Amino acid sequence: MTSPDAVAALRPRLPSPLVEVSDTRFARHGVGLLLKRDDLIHPLLIGNKWRKLAPNLAAAAGRTILTFGGAYSNHLRATAAAGRLLGLSTVGVVRGDELAGAPLNPSLTRCAADGMRLHFVDRSTYRHAARPDTLAAILRAADAEDAHVVPEGGSNTHAVRGCRALGEELRGSAEVAAVPCGTGGTLAGLAAGLAPDQHALGVPVLKGGFLGADVHALQTRAFGGPRGAWSLADGFHFGGYARVPEELDTFAADFEQRHGLAVERLYVAKLLYALVALAREGAFPRGTGVTAVITGAPFTGDAGDADGSGKGS
Ligand SMILES: *Cc1c(COP(=O)(O)O)cnc(C)c1O
Repeated sequence: MTSPDAVAALRPRLPSPLVEVSDTRFARHGVGLLLKRDDLIHPLLIGNKWRKLAPNLAAAAGRTILTFGGAYSNHLRATAAAGRLLGLSTVGVVRGDELAGAPLNPSLTRCAADGMRLHFVDRSTYRHAARPDTLAAILRAADAEDAHVVPEGGSNTHAVRGCRALGEELRGSAEVAAVPCGTGGTLAGLAAGLAPDQHALGVPVLKGGFLGADVHALQTRAFGGPRGAWSLADGFHFGGYARVPEELDTFAADFEQRHGLAVERLYVAKLLYALVALAREGAFPRGTGVTAVITGAPFTGDAGDADGSGKGS
């Protein structure tokens, strides 16, 4: 059984720390920079993955959790770790049937070591997994017909409502709160939780999609309509998802030096790069405070605190 109490027993660090940092690239434009350390919420259920998964773990009420991800998905690893820590079965539907039978990469190795059953599907099936007939076929093939299904990236209604708490924790602080965006679920919840005089800024890490429409749809499903003031800063995807050109990598390494923070490359580096560029362009009026939400941490291959010994719970 997973109750909200069982989830709370994982002892998340909430509210996550909010720290002001001094960075001349902002200060010279009269802009203040704060870091919202969601990467410190839990060593394995990191950042926005905690905020999105915790309400889903409660909703699963002990049933198997089946979810979707690519071969390096942060969301799959977080779900697998949650399953181990809470004694829940998990099934990961992985994009790419060519991966079946091949040696697992470090991320999927971690998932499997945490007890996640991996089910590989071809790209076309994966793309259409939201269709009822395709989903039913996947559940049948994975032998998980009564599972609690969480979509790719974890962004369902439970998750978006869970991310509202991020905005609520930031009420009364800086005017702008910025997050990197994959599915947009975190931005949708963040905007809903902020105070009316605050603004949520999303930095898409994928190339040209329909993210604005997606965020709108996620808010409508979770809250019944649009909520809060938010916008997207396009042009910082660096070629698309998981593309990390040298310029971005160098920027991230320099940020690590300056601020003693391990910078996750696929999302967090693009967010921080965007904020430095926007400050340089004068996009923030003097006197503005900007909070960068550190939504995750680099994957190191570690099992974290528990190493499969079944301690805790
Ligand atoms: C998954 C993830 C995101 C994307 O969140 P969405 O709600 O899908 O937009 C952002 N940052 C990190 C570090 C992530 O792992």
